[in-house]
Amino acid sequence: MTITPQKIDQFKALVENAKHIIITAHKSPDGDSIGSSLGLYHYLKKKGKEVFVCHPDPAPDFLHWMMGQECILNLEENEAELNAHFEKADLIYCLDYNSSSRIGQMEKPLNDSKAQKVMIDHHRDPEPDFCQIQFSDIEASSTSQLIFELIEACGEVDLIDETIGTPLYCGIVTDTGSFRFSSTSPKTHHIAATLIIKGVKHWEVHENVYDTNSLDKIQLVSFALLEKLVVDRENQTAYISLSNAEQERFSATKGDTEGLVNQALSIQGIKMAAFFKESDGIVKISFRSKGSIPVNELSKQNFSGGGHLNAAGGKFVGNLDAAIQKFVTILPKFVEENRELF
Ligand code: 5GP
Ligand code: MN
Repeated sequence: MTITPQKIDQFKALVENAKHIIITAHKSPDGDSIGSSLGLYHYLKKKGKEVFVCHPDPAPDFLHWMMGQECILNLEENEAELNAHFEKADLIYCLDYNSSSRIGQMEKPLNDSKAQKVMIDHHRDPEPDFCQIQFSDIEASSTSQLIFELIEACGEVDLIDETIGTPLYCGIVTDTGSFRFSSTSPKTHHIAATLIIKGVKHWEVHENVYDTNSLDKIQLVSFALLEKLVVDRENQTAYISLSNAEQERFSATKGDTEGLVNQALSIQGIKMAAFFKESDGIVKISFRSKGSIPVNELSKQNFSGGGHLNAAGGKFVGNLDAAIQKFVTILPKFVEENRELF
């Protein structure tokens, strides 16, 4: 990320002058959106600022352990309180998203607000003019990494303690698939090491995120892999789908299907995977790929979505079978067009 001295001065001045700060992140929170939000929240609190975290919807259970999580307001459950903060805010951070279409119903209070807006994000193609100040780095492993880099650029690494560092570490771990993805750089490891030196108990983060599954979740995943996995060897693609009824059978809660698509991708010889999930009357789709197969392009062109080269998401308005049918129809052409990548 090109952090120029002028941009940092601007960043610092905004914090200094702000009286009422809001931190926002994208819909369907993940480890990085919650981690970057709480890392920045604890940092600003430590600097004595009045700060509130306002998200479109609640976090999944596997992220509830993080300190400060109980303070996060969400539009679904705390609409009046959240709107009141948006009216008062003079500084708003937009973390882990780069266009207002990623925050659902929270788009209106955000767009109506006269506050200064600062985007900190690592997704491709930021919407032009979205936020007065943009810190965008598509090479960064995570937004949590960028929060660390900004604190560092402000000369305030000394302020980072276990409370600030733990959510940042969680965001880095979850967005890098535990330091596996190609977005993991020497800098990422360097930051992780610094966070451990600052007191982060890295084993506790892994345990809290990955070893707290409910029995229902494990059985839902088992069912999906045994009964719902389709392997298309010709197109080196595997996909899984779950209907509302199937999710209900295992009392699925938010986050229970997180990572399921990676299981499909982990099969030898499979280069691309998709997961179709019936949700709120539409079908939400997750795409993953190995190598340089651009699933973000596939999602953008066919499923009103986007994301990263190897991890993207999108949606389909219609029923589950129709969504799968559309995917199966476009798949051979996509594989052909990207033949050298498969
Ligand atoms: P997931 O499959 O975990 O929901 O999302 C994977 C990646 O794709 C995330 O980085 C997320 O930001 C992005 N993504 C997910 N859904 C959408 C969507 O509807 N639109 C866009 N532009 N990106 C998405
Ligand atoms: Mn992220």
